[in-house]
Amino acid sequence: MSRVPIIAGNWKLFKTSKEAIELASGLLPLVKNKSNVEIIISPVFTVLERVSKVIAGSNIKLAAQDCFWEEEGAFTGEVSPSMLLDAGCSHVIIGHSERRQYFGETDETVNKKLKAALSKGLTVILCVGETLQEREMGKTFDLLQKQLKGGLSGISSNSFDKIIIAYEPVWAIGTGKTATDQQAEEVHAFIRSEIGSFYSSLVADNIRILYGGSVKPENISGLISQKNIDGALVGGASLQVESFAALVNAV
Ligand code: PEP
Repeated sequence: MSRVPIIAGNWKLFKTSKEAIELASGLLPLVKNKSNVEIIISPVFTVLERVSKVIAGSNIKLAAQDCFWEEEGAFTGEVSPSMLLDAGCSHVIIGHSERRQYFGETDETVNKKLKAALSKGLTVILCVGETLQEREMGKTFDLLQKQLKGGLSGISSNSFDKIIIAYEPVWAIGTGKTATDQQAEEVHAFIRSEIGSFYSSLVADNIRILYGGSVKPENISGLISQKNIDGALVGGASLQVESFAALVNAV
């Protein structure tokens, strides 16, 4: 079993096209010699195609932050998996907690999106994670089990080479509060064992599980050295060339 680590940047609702091109171009020389880590950036829809041209032929891959489950039709404002491929994406983030919190994403819609994205050959970063209230009520593991079961419903084990899971405790996203290395490792081990019991130990051993929630150059080493943490999904620190390159180079 060898799981190549991943550092993925979620640019959220930041960066105009000029800024996005500057950020992507600035990253290229700083990470170009990294071959032992997969690097992914995730700009807003409107700049995907332009950024894809900047990173073409490099070791940086492109993800979208969401997608819809239908291919085409009267669905104003939505973007389909084929359109993401057309714009140069290889990956898509699905079920980010901000989508769940502000845009009515449920395990059911996550599941539909995941199936649609996989059917077109995109690799999915499936986000799961508990709120502070859920953690304090001792519901973390039940909630994660529910999100995993719901999100992965009907997915067969041979799709797992195109699924990455991101554990992102909602209370740690954009708050400056990081889960401790042990807190994160405990949950990652749980997620891996759940995948093992839903599927097989082979699938569990191979799936990459990223941690997300205020990851910075100062805290990446402790997290990444945990047995079940295979990289990070990074918001804030992915918005600057220096901090994102430092995260990549810390792996
Ligand atoms: C995220 O957006 O997925 C995230 C983890 O954000 P931040 O790193 O800013 O907490």
